[in-house]
Amino acid sequence: MIREIVTDDEILSKPCDEGTAEDAAIVEDLIDTLKSLETAAGLAANQIGETKRIVVYLDMKDNPHAMFNPVIKMALNPSTVAEECLSHEGQYVTVKRFAKINVAYQELINGQLVDRKRKFEGWTAQVIQHLVDHCNGKLV
Ligand SMILES: [Zn+2]
Repeated sequence: MIREIVTDDEILSKPCDEGTAEDAAIVEDLIDTLKSLETAAGLAANQIGETKRIVVYLDMKDNPHAMFNPVIKMALNPSTVAEECLSHEGQYVTVKRFAKINVAYQELINGQLVDRKRKFEGWTAQVIQHLVDHCNGKLV
C-alpha cells in the first residue's frame, strides 16, 4: 500500500524501535511507496509513520532491498556532500558522508530475521547512511 510521506519532525526526530519479523507489512508498504516516488532512492519506516528500524533502498538497477535494524560498522573516506530529504523536499543540507561502509543488518527470510553483513560504496552507501540516520531520529 502506498503511504503518505511523513514530514512531521516530532515523529521523524524520535529514535526508532527494533524491527521484528512481524513487521513484514511495513516492508511491503515501504516498497510500494518508494516505487511510487520518482526521485527517491530509499525510504525509512518512520517516513511512512512506522517508528521501526526498517529501511528500503534501491540498488543501481532500481531493485528494492529491505534492511532490518541496520548498523554501520565501518566507514571510510569521508567527504562533505549536499543532501536533500524526501520529508523536507527542496532543502539541501551539507552533511559528512563516507564513500565506503560496512553494514550489519537483518534480512527477513521465510518469516525469520537472518543476520547479514555487506559492504556498500558510492551513491548506495550515501543513501544507506541517510536512512540509518532516519532510524536514529536524525534528520539532515
Ligand atoms: Zn530523509
